[in-house]
Amino acid sequence: MSDHLEKLEPILADVVRPNADRVDSEAVFPSQAIAELGRTGLLGLLSDPAVGGMGLGHRQAAEVIESIARCCGSTAMVATMHYCGAAMLERYGDEATRGKIAAGECLTTLAFSEAGSRSHFWAPLSTAQAVDGSIRLDAHKSWVTSANHADVYVWSSQPVAEEGMCTLWQVPRETAGIHPGSGFDGLGLRGNDSTPCRAEGATIPAENRLGEDGKGFDAMMEIVLPLFNVLSSACSVGLMEEATARACEHASGTRYQHLDSALADLPTIRATLARMRCKVDQSRALLQATVTAIESGANDAMLRVLESKAVCNDAAGEVCDLAMRACGGAAFRKDVAIERYFRDARAGMVMAPTSDVLYDFVGKAICGMDLF
Ligand SMILES: Cc1cc2nc3c(=O)[nH]c(=O)nc-3n(C[C@H](O)[C@H](O)[C@H](O)COP(=O)(O)OP(=O)(O)OC[C@H]3O[C@@H](n4cnc5c(N)ncnc54)[C@H](O)[C@@H]3O)c2cc1C
Repeated sequence: MSDHLEKLEPILADVVRPNADRVDSEAVFPSQAIAELGRTGLLGLLSDPAVGGMGLGHRQAAEVIESIARCCGSTAMVATMHYCGAAMLERYGDEATRGKIAAGECLTTLAFSEAGSRSHFWAPLSTAQAVDGSIRLDAHKSWVTSANHADVYVWSSQPVAEEGMCTLWQVPRETAGIHPGSGFDGLGLRGNDSTPCRAEGATIPAENRLGEDGKGFDAMMEIVLPLFNVLSSACSVGLMEEATARACEHASGTRYQHLDSALADLPTIRATLARMRCKVDQSRALLQATVTAIESGANDAMLRVLESKAVCNDAAGEVCDLAMRACGGAAFRKDVAIERYFRDARAGMVMAPTSDVLYDFVGKAICGMDLF
């Protein structure tokens, strides 16, 4: 087993899996799991060894996220958003912050989505103004995962002075004028602390800019989009893999005593389980092809990146729906512990870029049209 998965295994067994139901039912942030991921260096998985990181890439991050998602979707989402923020900071952030991320002392997230432009994260309406050599931020961010726990947000705004769609910033959560909301009461991923966050005259140093003014969109497309889509896909694969395993176990072990037969003796149930298995394997194959395309710089890498999130997120919704149906009332009443996966799996398809938008992008790409 590779080093990152060896480090992860005991965290899953001792912390993530035992706490998953409570994280969901009480909507509590998985602080202990995140602390353990930090302590073992796994929050620094993408960081350069020169700053103390593990120096790994999309493939290994996806393996970590899939494994976590099999136990707890909320923890997987917190780690997903951290890896996306960390990748931006690794490219454009200062050395001190990069070192803290590598050491597991800095949790990050993305603060992209806004109340005004909603899921169209590439078009922020929030502002950044140069005032006395510093930058004043005003914004109404609509969703920020880990909003009350991340140390640093990777933040989008309109450019300060240049042309372009947006500019990115490193914003410490404790900056005066940054106001995360309290509590997340969602259908699924209930422990991910994804709340709105306002900025009212929040002042940060001008050096906190990540990349050039007006070039944030390019960084989003080059760094964040491929990584987020891969990790969101991996999260979906983990959720549906576990839902399938639990459904098969339930169907094999549940008996109709008066018939002396198992639930899995019904051909309709077996066919449902088979459809689930096929969708999981199709999704995994596309995810792996996507990662390989990214690693090799293949011409079709971006097309795979767009396809993968839509296919895996939608498949997770369908597979978990089938799992609920195959396991009957027992699943509806939580006896099979599948309904948390069913609820968690609904998030991926509405997280930006949403499935609808991705299908539109794929359609444009294969018709030779510009995406934006
Ligand atoms: C659990 C969770 C965690 C999140 N964490 C973060 C985070 O950490 N950082 C962050 O920045 N954001 C985060 N988000 C926000 C997310 O990325 C989306 O921006 C948000 O879910 C969009 O919701 P909305 O109601 O604004 O969608 P809307 O934009 O109102 O979309 C509504 C519907 O319209 C469809 N639609 C919109 N535009 C088009 C189009 N052009 N073509 C076809 N259909 C379209 C959408 O697919 C969707 O079905 C999170 C969301 C969730 C659910």
